[in-house]
Amino acid sequence: MSAAPQERVIHDSRDAVSPGKAEAAVSTGDLPLLGDVEAALAGARSRYASDDSGQVADYIPALATEDPALFGLAVADVRGLVTYSGDSEHRFSIQSVSKAFVFALVDEALGHDTVRRAVGVNNTGLPFDSILAIELNRGSPVNPMVNAGALATTALVPGRDATEQWDFVREGLSRFAGRELELDERVYASESAANQRNESIARLLGSYGRLQGDPSEVTDVYTRQCSLAVSTRDLAVMGATLAAGGVNPLTGERVVDAAVCRDTLAALASSGMYERSGDWLYEVGMPGKSGVSGAVLTVSPGKAGLAVFSPRLDATGNSVRGQRATHYLSGALGLNLFASAPVNGRQG
Ligand code: GLU
Repeated sequence: MSAAPQERVIHDSRDAVSPGKAEAAVSTGDLPLLGDVEAALAGARSRYASDDSGQVADYIPALATEDPALFGLAVADVRGLVTYSGDSEHRFSIQSVSKAFVFALVDEALGHDTVRRAVGVNNTGLPFDSILAIELNRGSPVNPMVNAGALATTALVPGRDATEQWDFVREGLSRFAGRELELDERVYASESAANQRNESIARLLGSYGRLQGDPSEVTDVYTRQCSLAVSTRDLAVMGATLAAGGVNPLTGERVVDAAVCRDTLAALASSGMYERSGDWLYEVGMPGKSGVSGAVLTVSPGKAGLAVFSPRLDATGNSVRGQRATHYLSGALGLNLFASAPVNGRQG
């Protein structure tokens, strides 16, 4: 029997064993030993360093000046050990990878069901800045990892005004990274001057009553969050915090609840790699988030955060080397969530 349009068979959290909580049984494994992780990162780097396919993003003019040869890789495990290779300290703007962490902070502040109702968690199947996706879904922002859903999520950030909201976002993402993150002023100015499309998306959501607050102010806070400067190592630590039930493995600070990590990783699995999210899960088997500056962050729950940065992108906006290296590392480090080894059953 098929469900009527718009009817949800899986309702909020009514059927969950522990609604909004993550204290039910958790089962994960361990990362390979340090030497093996180091060898895998070095192997990924030498395998893909000569791949110069793809284009550096230029629709935000400041991004076009990035050195296309940059290639950084880092793994942060849930106990705080960070392994890295290449340009892992180079700073770049976080761009869309911020969407995962702002979503987590808003989920923590407002709760699982509220965020799901206000934003949604299904894939659009369309590009990250699609206006058509909003129209096809009658004004729904659809999911927090595309621009419409990210703008709707940022609009929900606690605060009396845009300044307080921005402080909340910057401080929250800094807690995920374990250090004070700062705005890349050059990227922020450049994106602000070329932001007509995001402004339009915010206004369209507003016209459907699906955006809280003033569209220009929401777009400004969103543009700031995308312009925070991070390194590949920072991203790996931010991912490791999501892998470690919300506790930053470097600082020991609890940033969000374990249930929020579960929600965030589910949203990433469905939509983190834009309209390629299905291919990504099929090939790589981990929740991931990419951004147009060239980062790919993936999370292996209970094990580690894995970040790769390289600025050349494919046509969907995902880093070419970032995808290839992550795919390789998922296999080399045994991170695919769907993989299992054959087990001898009961012998009778
Ligand atoms: N700030 C960028 C935008 O809104 C982020 C896009 C991305 O990284 O996918 O267009």
